Amino acid sequence: MDTKYIFVTGGVVSSLGKGIISSSLARLLLSRGYRVTIQKFDPYINIDPGTLNPYEHGECYVTADGHEADLDLGHYERFTNIRTSRANNVTTGRIYQSVIDKERRGDYLGKTVQIIPHITDEIKRNVKMLGNTGSYDFVITEIGGTVGDIESTPFLEAVRQLKWELGRDALFIHLTYVPYLHAAKELKTKPTQHSVKLLQSVGIQPDILVLRTEKEIPAGMLRKVAQFCNVAPEAVIQSIDLPTIYQVPLMMHEQHLDDIVIRLTGADATPEPDLTRWNEFLHKLAVSEKVVNIGLVGKYVELQDAYKSITESLMQAATYLDHKVNIVYIHSEKLTEEDVEAKLAPMDGIVIAPGFGQRGIEGKFIALKWAREHDMPTFGICLGMQCMVIEYARNVLGLTGANSTEMDPLTPHNVIDLMEEQKQISNLGGTMRLGAYKCALRPGSRVAEAYGKTEIEERHRHRFEFNEDYREQFEQGGMKCVGENPGTRLVEVVEIPEKRWFIGTQYHPEYQSTVLEPNPIFMSFVKAAIEYSDDKK
Ligand code: GLN
Repeated sequence: MDTKYIFVTGGVVSSLGKGIISSSLARLLLSRGYRVTIQKFDPYINIDPGTLNPYEHGECYVTADGHEADLDLGHYERFTNIRTSRANNVTTGRIYQSVIDKERRGDYLGKTVQIIPHITDEIKRNVKMLGNTGSYDFVITEIGGTVGDIESTPFLEAVRQLKWELGRDALFIHLTYVPYLHAAKELKTKPTQHSVKLLQSVGIQPDILVLRTEKEIPAGMLRKVAQFCNVAPEAVIQSIDLPTIYQVPLMMHEQHLDDIVIRLTGADATPEPDLTRWNEFLHKLAVSEKVVNIGLVGKYVELQDAYKSITESLMQAATYLDHKVNIVYIHSEKLTEEDVEAKLAPMDGIVIAPGFGQRGIEGKFIALKWAREHDMPTFGICLGMQCMVIEYARNVLGLTGANSTEMDPLTPHNVIDLMEEQKQISNLGGTMRLGAYKCALRPGSRVAEAYGKTEIEERHRHRFEFNEDYREQFEQGGMKCVGENPGTRLVEVVEIPEKRWFIGTQYHPEYQSTVLEPNPIFMSFVKAAIEYSDDKK
């Protein structure tokens, strides 16, 4: 069958969960046996979100091919197990850069380069790029932003044209919000009607409406929305707030979202989705009662989305281990020698978060020293691993003033230093060590035991590295370099074998942990935390 294109737009307000609806539809279509991919178009001018701070846009996700991507790609992978790539996340900046490069090359020689048709054509080319590989039955394209934003206009025009060209092979899903006014005790559909009108005014008629709501919308009201918005009554679907986003695929299936998509696009018929393993996960999530307390030591504690992949990975692992995870955010900037005991002692394990720059660093050292001395399961990720190395250098190896040259370029002991190839680089965008690299694990190490093998591949996002000159001293001292890149010998994993579970990874295992395939290292860490908690009792 021809590739079908599903466009997902949003209206009324942002943060309605277009990414979750797109991921849920992808999950359902995959579970019916279709080949599916999801991509996101972001209307901002940054080339990628790699240079955005988490306050702007939450976590920066990294794909296996080394693209710094919107955090929605993390949802896509967690829901679907699909490996996304650079082609799955395109920004206005990338579109303009490509058009301007073509203009300089002379590709448009003699022509005035304009938003229409040149920018819109470039958007269309990118929308169809994955579909044209012939590898997919469905390409789901989420358009970032909200209908009516100036920034989104070229994207909407491009997908309007695509619908005109593709006919039945293209379909629009519009996600809106139905607020509940507590004072009036009423649900209000007017914002939805306005938002659909805005969409219609740019020539797009949605085929399916998904209404995000806190309360069940009565059938009569759904019918009214269908009538006023010119949509088939069965194609108005409600998305009620649920205890977990992973129930959303089931809620969408109950209302036949997947059937409607298949029918409207004329896709080849397939059996009902096989959600056995998905349901098993949800069952465990619902019934487990025992709690494992994990402290997440970082500087973005007020931001839910800053450590999204890490908190999801912890939740997945705990669920498979029949526990609920209670993540306690511990502000690294506020942690002191005086209160570290009170804050960490109630935990069963701690994660030292990734990050950049000096802010909050000293608190990470305080947490690490306490956890190491009290033998609490501790997991350092990227900057967290670098902090483990620095703390060990200062407090165990006696290397006074040890640091990363990121924090102190003049440190007497640069145990973490800039990679050689990084020294020539001056641009900050997209120039870190990014994407998946192989890592060889030392046989017999705890980390090798965790993965159950000695050759792994995980994703990276950093500029600085463990300094090879100090390797021998660490090995002698008791912190072992148990994972390294097989080609360059760069140190990727450190651990202290005499501790219960004290491991730091230069890579980010959270980018490769999904609902159906939790990352083994998170499983091993949470298991150690559970055992520690049992021993404490
Ligand atoms: N700032 C550190 C580096 O660039 C760690 C980065 C991270 O934690 N992602 O090497």
